[in-house]
Amino acid sequence: MSDTFEAVIGLEIHAQLLTATKIFCGCSTAFGAPPNAHACPVCVGLPGALPVLNRRAVDLAVTAALALGCEVQERSVFARKNYFYPDLPKGYQISQFELPLALGGGLQMPASVGGRFVKLTRIHMEEDAGKSLHEGFADSDRKTYLDYNRSGVPLVEIVSEPDMRSAEEAALFFETLRQILVWLGVNDGNMDEGSLRCDANVSVRRPGDPKLGTKTEVKNVNSFRYLEKAIEFEIGRHIDVLDHGGRIVQETRLFDAAQGKTYSMRSKEEAHDYRYFPEPDLPPLMVDAARRDRIKAALPELPEARRRRLIAEYGIPEYDAALLTQTRGVADYFEQTARSCGNAKAASNWVMGEVLRNMKERAVAIEAVPITPAALAGLITIVEQGTISSTVAKDVFARMYDTGRAAAEIVAADGLAQISDTSSLEPIVQRVLAAHPDVVAEIKAGKDRKFQFLVGQVMKETRGKGDPKLVTDLMRAALGT
Ligand code: ADP
Ligand code: ZN
Ligand code: MG
Repeated sequence: MSDTFEAVIGLEIHAQLLTATKIFCGCSTAFGAPPNAHACPVCVGLPGALPVLNRRAVDLAVTAALALGCEVQERSVFARKNYFYPDLPKGYQISQFELPLALGGGLQMPASVGGRFVKLTRIHMEEDAGKSLHEGFADSDRKTYLDYNRSGVPLVEIVSEPDMRSAEEAALFFETLRQILVWLGVNDGNMDEGSLRCDANVSVRRPGDPKLGTKTEVKNVNSFRYLEKAIEFEIGRHIDVLDHGGRIVQETRLFDAAQGKTYSMRSKEEAHDYRYFPEPDLPPLMVDAARRDRIKAALPELPEARRRRLIAEYGIPEYDAALLTQTRGVADYFEQTARSCGNAKAASNWVMGEVLRNMKERAVAIEAVPITPAALAGLITIVEQGTISSTVAKDVFARMYDTGRAAAEIVAADGLAQISDTSSLEPIVQRVLAAHPDVVAEIKAGKDRKFQFLVGQVMKETRGKGDPKLVTDLMRAALGT
């Protein structure tokens, strides 16, 4: 990027609130149902049907706002945002406009992306629209089908100030926000299913210029990588236009992931006049101090605070703390394991290693891992006591995962205990020496690096159960080297 321009980025993020039912009716919000399985007179906009605000949705929105340091407004107001589109059956979307649920707040970004505090402008509540299905039917060349399952799904829109200065920072902001929302149980973080979506506003200006440049908005970029790419492309495009004496046209654009480019969707002239007015069917939303304080008191320790505490309390490296706090469940699992075995670094290694690897391979969350923290602690303890080697321990872990049995039980029943008595190992050492006279001769002639080969043969014969230190000692003694 040319150093004569500075990029300016602001994000607008739509997050589905994790309620069982929609924002103004009792229809299910479950993903993946057949089209229109979750629809009723309210969410398909039949005349006379009246909305009733979902209390749980408000609690979740307030939870997010408080965790992000926003000021929750005692009184906020739903409005009608009018536009015509087939997936919007009422002809308007109910959304907070002039008086949103929360103002201010923000996120501290790390030094690696400039160390800025990225402020939030506002958080407001709104309903999602339905979905137009343009393909997948025999007559899709002539017809568009409509699915209202998403119509009326509760959302918060989180709007940032234009405080970010690089694509990387914006992607990290979105990632950090996602982690917090999922951590709070406010959102499921599923960008593929559309429960978390991001629009990026981009402009460039000369460094030091107090005035912002003309922005373009890239709609619905739904992966961190694509967001970064889309913004990078837009920054480059803006600079290119300006460098060639052109002017940026304020418009909405879409990102084509295959091409790595954005293209125009609609210009400002085509932008809607939404004719907002207060929703007459809903009273103002009142969130009193008691409700706000109750939700605030119930906020969990947030990811960043948790990372700092894990480092301080358990003495684990920052790298470990970052991995162990990827979700609240993983952090809890680690802490329980560490506390119950008393060896935090060993607990960390096991969780970062076998536990996360199994979760990834089996595509399951920590809650679905059948080995309890106490059971993992049991495994760690018998490794520490020298009952089994760490190599065998991985095998024991796999058997624990498959059978749900305790480590000690598996070791006893499957004969996996470490062989650490001379009388058992000595004959095996002798057998290996007798089987490899050529190697023995080489070692005696000074090729000591062949020594490990012989140790390896003994370990193989014991199927990994020989105590490696004792095997080494016995082998040295037998060779007299
Ligand atoms: P609009 O009226 O087009 O919706 P807003 O002022 O409401 O614009 O801002 C929408 C988003 O765009 C916010 O996230 C804001 O931070 C960001 N934004 C506003 N102006 C700019 C700009 N010049 N460059 C980059 N982002 C901007
Ligand atoms: Zn409904
Ligand atoms: Mg706006």
